[in-house]
Amino acid sequence: MKKLFDRAFDGSDEMYAWAERSVAEASAKYDDSTPVAYPNTAYYLGILYSMTGNKNQTLGEVKQSLQWIKSQFTRERRLHDVFTTGVGTACAAEIIEAVKYIGGVNPYEGNSPYLGHMSDAEVRELGVPLVTGDIPGFVVLIGAAPTDEQAVELIKSYQAKSIYVFLVGECAVQAERKGLKMGHPVRVYPVGPELPSVCHVVSVAVRAGLIFGAIQPGDYDGMREYTFKRINAAVNAFEPVPDITVACGAGAISYGFPVITNDDHDMWRVPRSLVVQPDVSKFVETSIEARQMKIKITNIDIPVSFATAFEGEVIRKADMQIEANGSRHDSLEFVRTLEASTIEDHKITVIGKDLDEYDFGAQMNLALLVEVGGKKMQSDFEPVFERQFHAWLNCIEGVMHTGQRDMIRVRVSKDAYDAGFRLKHFGEVLYSKLKQDYEQVVDRVQVTIITDAEKVHELRVEANHVYDKRDERLRTLTDESVGDFYSCIMCQSFSPSHVCIVTPERLGLCGAVSWLDAKATHQLDPNGPCRIVTKGDATDEVIGIWENVDNAVNQFSMGALEHVTLYSIMQDPMTSCGCFECICGIEPTSGGVVIVNREHVPMTPLGMTFSEMASMTGGGIQTPGYMGHGKHFIASKKFMAADGGPARIVWLPKALKEQVSERLNSTAKTLYGIDNFADMIADETVTSDDPEKLLEFLTEKGHPVLTLEPLI
Ligand code: SF4
Ligand code: ZN
Repeated sequence: MKKLFDRAFDGSDEMYAWAERSVAEASAKYDDSTPVAYPNTAYYLGILYSMTGNKNQTLGEVKQSLQWIKSQFTRERRLHDVFTTGVGTACAAEIIEAVKYIGGVNPYEGNSPYLGHMSDAEVRELGVPLVTGDIPGFVVLIGAAPTDEQAVELIKSYQAKSIYVFLVGECAVQAERKGLKMGHPVRVYPVGPELPSVCHVVSVAVRAGLIFGAIQPGDYDGMREYTFKRINAAVNAFEPVPDITVACGAGAISYGFPVITNDDHDMWRVPRSLVVQPDVSKFVETSIEARQMKIKITNIDIPVSFATAFEGEVIRKADMQIEANGSRHDSLEFVRTLEASTIEDHKITVIGKDLDEYDFGAQMNLALLVEVGGKKMQSDFEPVFERQFHAWLNCIEGVMHTGQRDMIRVRVSKDAYDAGFRLKHFGEVLYSKLKQDYEQVVDRVQVTIITDAEKVHELRVEANHVYDKRDERLRTLTDESVGDFYSCIMCQSFSPSHVCIVTPERLGLCGAVSWLDAKATHQLDPNGPCRIVTKGDATDEVIGIWENVDNAVNQFSMGALEHVTLYSIMQDPMTSCGCFECICGIEPTSGGVVIVNREHVPMTPLGMTFSEMASMTGGGIQTPGYMGHGKHFIASKKFMAADGGPARIVWLPKALKEQVSERLNSTAKTLYGIDNFADMIADETVTSDDPEKLLEFLTEKGHPVLTLEPLI
């Protein structure tokens, strides 16, 4: 019987020969200068780039990399060699896949169900859920499960634990045959039909290191340490496991990812790293244990699953049992504080018809009223809790929620309804999550769900008064009006030296942490990620320099950062971790800045895409001229206040502009007396790549940036 290491060595030779063949076939068609690139990434062939620092942008360079890979296949010190061989195998796989993309084609387009290479934007999107533990880890399934049913069962149990699942090979087809919803939004990512496509998963892990960890390309040991410590991933390889998969498994183990298999081969036992689990239904617990993933337990008494994996689930009209749509029929969500003694904890009341009293496809009125009380409760936390409804309700399998306040839209799928989901279950979810996530603040919670049209309307009128009051409070909440800012270091688990300073007029760059959120988080856990930064006197109020802010970033970055300004992107700008909603960068022709959000894929007038701009900063490093930020910061009076303010904004993607225009216009009116400022800002309908055209447009519109001093 062949020994395990020999199987890995043979498997790597096989992968290498495959890569050589692919490159030879490509060379027969294209010359050496032909570009080779994955789409929507600034990290080239990510694994090779992170290993060697080489960018591999042409077929000729890829050929040279083959030589380098060969040099990794040493055979002198077996334990050492098996790992370098494993990583070399991943690199060879990456070349096989990259060659498929030559000529800008997407080899996976129309090749259902597979998706191939994941974009940088999608990798960045994973930042926040990874740091909060909402995604406790990743698992890669390779090959075919014993049956279609077992494949789906396994995937669903990973989903129920919110573990992100990648599918390589036949298991994706098995899932497709069973009609399982797949894709990045539901965190089941079918990668590719052939084994080399597993490189796309490795690429996600190493790009996390490059993006969030500021690991330098070529720092092989640094990367392995990063993935080992910070990326919770495991491989599940179904039997029969061929040599070539063994070679990939060696690569996975060298990155710190254990391999679990039901292939009960005599040689296969390496504690913690290579685990034989003959029972596929136990893969989940074995993987969690082998990689020691921390799973957030959410026990909620509802008849469907509850997991963050369902957050991105879309429910189409045809699959919809019932809908509440606030833009057509009064529907709202509302949190109010009551004296704790008047609240009956865990009381859930339904007023009006329940779901089974409506016809299929019906529209209903819906009010979700949550009343909370507690010694530490403050009315400032009401909107913080209310905003969580969106995430919580979306975690219910078969429920989709959009909007907020009295503009919500909630859909319940037929499947969820058939499984027994009724109105009181909204109450169970809201009750459990509030008690679980905010237990330090709320002592008692009761939920009332109303569908009676008249009563919903009455509550809407009342809620509108409160919404208005809250808006008023937010308007008066400025950086000047408060005594404290907050630091947030939530992202340090991935980006070890990054610190956000959150102020009333500058939310965290992830877009998820406002000053009120940070305040609530601090209340919950005073020694947790959000700490008070007492403002004290400013050293320079225009640029936004505070001694206490400097001290805080210094302390929380463990000395990596000395100075941070709050209002400049030129002088000591705030660092970025990598999970920012938007990135802005200086556009030299106009002297303004271009802002792009993560969702916008095409080119910008900077000659860079979002991914490329985003790669200019991150990992807790300061890069003057580039800054990651939240969407809401765009319309803030403090946006680049020291560098000319929002008047610097010259280009925004159209969709983003639409989202921010109302608030941006009002800010520009207050600051500069300009009406309809958003109309002066160019978008892709003006130009998506031509700085001259951009300048022409700005000149024609009389854009205020043209009167400002140059930034550089
Ligand atoms: Fe991460 Fe900053 Fe958001 Fe906190 S506020 S979660 S550190 S991006
Ligand atoms: Zn982050």
